Amino acid sequence: MNYFSSQKPFIIAGPCGIEDQQQIQEIAEELQTLPVQMMRGGVWKPRSKPGHFEGRGEDALQWLLELKKDFNLPICVEVANQEQVELALQYQVDAVWIGARSTVNPFIVQEIAEALKGSSVGVMVKNPINPDIDLWSGAIERFMNVGIENLAAIHRGFSSYDASSKYRNKPIWAIPIELKRRYKEIPIFCDISHICGNRELLASVAQRAMDLDFDGLMIETHPNPDAALSDAKQQITPAQLKILLEGLIFRQAADGSSAGEIEEIRQVLDTMDAEIVELIGKRIELVKQLGEIKAANNMPIYQAERWREIIESRTRWGIDNQLDAAFISKLFELIHDKSIQTQIAILNSLTSNR
Ligand code: PEP
Ligand code: MN
Repeated sequence: MNYFSSQKPFIIAGPCGIEDQQQIQEIAEELQTLPVQMMRGGVWKPRSKPGHFEGRGEDALQWLLELKKDFNLPICVEVANQEQVELALQYQVDAVWIGARSTVNPFIVQEIAEALKGSSVGVMVKNPINPDIDLWSGAIERFMNVGIENLAAIHRGFSSYDASSKYRNKPIWAIPIELKRRYKEIPIFCDISHICGNRELLASVAQRAMDLDFDGLMIETHPNPDAALSDAKQQITPAQLKILLEGLIFRQAADGSSAGEIEEIRQVLDTMDAEIVELIGKRIELVKQLGEIKAANNMPIYQAERWREIIESRTRWGIDNQLDAAFISKLFELIHDKSIQTQIAILNSLTSNR
């Protein structure tokens, strides 16, 4: 059984960076009284700019090892190269995570995977900083290929240039949901701290992750967050963590009575979806005929007036059916895009046959 599936939700808490021995002792003492399965602590901190706190390195690993004698709390740290893996294993950490800046680099991921080969420690793979699901799943596969069994994914949001975003890293939930679909056996946790970037948003993002059936949460926790040497704005005290966890609503799988009702509705939805897909297929057939006529008459494929009319009428029909205008126009943009591509393909094939 995958170690990270032993408890749901699996909660990982602890400081962004380990600053001194007293800090982690204070934290560990308090975390032990909470439903927390593992303590995190950054030993080597990847900082965007030089000159900031970069972690205490091997000293921090020594402090963590000493902590293990007094506290029954499994420990995880970030590793970003072979040397860090070797040190982390030497100091008996229980799990490591691969940071977002490492997941983007297949050479580094492969180096870390090979250094971890044969070890039974847990490995958690954060998403890359850019919204690229294949880079994320590629990294996960590199760990599977070297036989890592205790594997988990961590969703920590995606970097963007959008200064108006309320998140430090946009969640783009569709990506971790697709990852869950691809790897049903791999638990996926949500690192709400690095998504939010500030304390105020933490509870709502944590609830969203629970509603989307995430398997656990990673939450940065510090005895005195405002004085933290890194990520001060997003860290919370163990007391605040307690409140956050107590406020979460955990959704359960359907029980006997609602299961039947859900199944019935799903069957109707399946039938409706089949009809929608069939209709789209028929629509594309007509679009092809239209494309052939346009090609034969030397007409342009795209006609702005017709496109405007499509969007206006479909949006109006949507509103008449209590549907959101933005949703309908997005849907028809997709459909129209496909129509244009289909007709371009027809035009190209007819032209090349001439
Ligand atoms: C961290 O967890 O402390 C960290 C640096 O995260 P990320 O790799 O997600 O930026
Ligand atoms: Mn951090």
